[in-house]
Parts: sequence; C-alpha cells; structure tokens
Amino acid sequence: MAWRNGSSRTTAAEWKRLRQLAKHRIPYWCAQCGAEPVTGRGGLELDHIIPVAEGGTDGLDNLQWLCPSCHAEKSRREAARGISRRVARRRLYSRFAARHPGLK
Ligand SMILES: [Zn+2]
Repeated sequence: MAWRNGSSRTTAAEWKRLRQLAKHRIPYWCAQCGAEPVTGRGGLELDHIIPVAEGGTDGLDNLQWLCPSCHAEKSRREAARGISRRVARRRLYSRFAARHPGLK
C-alpha cells in the first residue's frame, strides 16, 4: 500500500499558530483527566481527537489539550489500534488468497 505523501501535513510554524489559537478557544486543561498545567513542566499538549492518520483534521473542533501522561497513553492506544488494523487487513487478504473449495 502506497504511503500518502505528506503535502497536507501541518508545518511546525502552523502548529505553533494553532496552539496559540487553541489556548484561547479550547479550555486549557486536560480533556481526559481534567488536570491543569503545572508551571515549569512544559504545560499541556495539543492533541488530535481523531488522529490525522485516521482522517482527522487540524480544525479546532478536532483538537483538545491533554496532559503529558494522558497524551502518552492515548498515543499508545492509537499505535496499538494501528497495529491491530494492519493485522486485520492482512487476515482479510489471506482469506481472499486462500481457496476453500467446498467450504463457504
Ligand atoms: Zn490528563
């Protein structure tokens, strides 16, 4: 499967601008656990509610703030989902490829 090219990826400069905008538009606390940013710990991380890899956009309605630990956990879940999706696809392919004469 061909990798989609990255022409629509948000650049670092755009992302920075988006973060500024999001600070005013999106409640600045963790959308998952409600934690408020701790001064000196780098603050909250801007997250795509629907990952870009799964068709999410950079629009404000697809963005939320997460604290670093919730963000890490969400990223792990998304990575795991990506893996299980690939496995499911491979299974589908092998079902197509395999012949089961006499079997439905
Ligand atoms: Zn959190």
